[in-house]
Amino acid sequence: MTLSLTITHLYPDYLNLYGDLGNIIALKRRCEWLGIDYQVHLLNLGDTAIPEQADLYFMGGGQDQDQVRVIDDFHTLKRDAIQADTLNGVVFLGVCGGYQLMGNTFLMGNGEETKGLGIIDLETKAPGPNVKQRCTGNLIVEILPEIYQEMQAIYTKPKTIPQTLVGFENHSGQTYLGDGVRPLAKTISGFGNSAEAKYEGARFKNTFGSYMHGSLLPKNPHFADYLIWLALVKKYNDPDIRLPVLADQEEWDAHQYFVQRYA
Ligand code: GLN
Repeated sequence: MTLSLTITHLYPDYLNLYGDLGNIIALKRRCEWLGIDYQVHLLNLGDTAIPEQADLYFMGGGQDQDQVRVIDDFHTLKRDAIQADTLNGVVFLGVCGGYQLMGNTFLMGNGEETKGLGIIDLETKAPGPNVKQRCTGNLIVEILPEIYQEMQAIYTKPKTIPQTLVGFENHSGQTYLGDGVRPLAKTISGFGNSAEAKYEGARFKNTFGSYMHGSLLPKNPHFADYLIWLALVKKYNDPDIRLPVLADQEEWDAHQYFVQRYA
């Protein structure tokens, strides 16, 4: 039986910064190489989300004004379905502006507060109009042990994968996690959730947020595989699914180069 996934890309026209579309391209390529059928479904402004149609949601980053443009549409046409799906264990990855929107509230740099999607318990606050500090630059983090341990066990045979994630960040919003939400990783170099946080990203069930652009999944194929695996396990209700080991040394060499250069 050929396994298949539906990848749902939210607001591709509005939320796509610093190569975020590369995350969809990486998911497509890795599915092809792993022998998994896929379809990509776009959910734009005006489209209604229907529960149980997506196996993996992706939402990229955006400037504050782009986030504001989609928020009403999100609340009226999409939130209920996506909340139900993510509570049910469907995979969701949000990057930067998308990550911020997944939380409860987002206080923007101009002092206006907008309600987030509420699919993960966190809040984001911009430092305010008089504070110019942004978290910008290359970001290298160490995946939390409990996630890394699971990531190593998803392949048909032993595969050495790095415990690092690498990317690029550029945000003014500072994100604070609620009780019960774990970060994705510990910051080695760069900022992550906030200038003083020491941690990057968030996970609740199979909902993940990250500040990593540039893009996250092509630079971190082990994380792409992990999301694909989680989506398959959920869809087929089979924790014994394992992924073939790909000949992807070039990707690891690129990852390692980045770690050595910026850590
Ligand atoms: N508008 C948000 C901020 O600056 C997110 C920017 C982004 O997605 N890179 O905090």
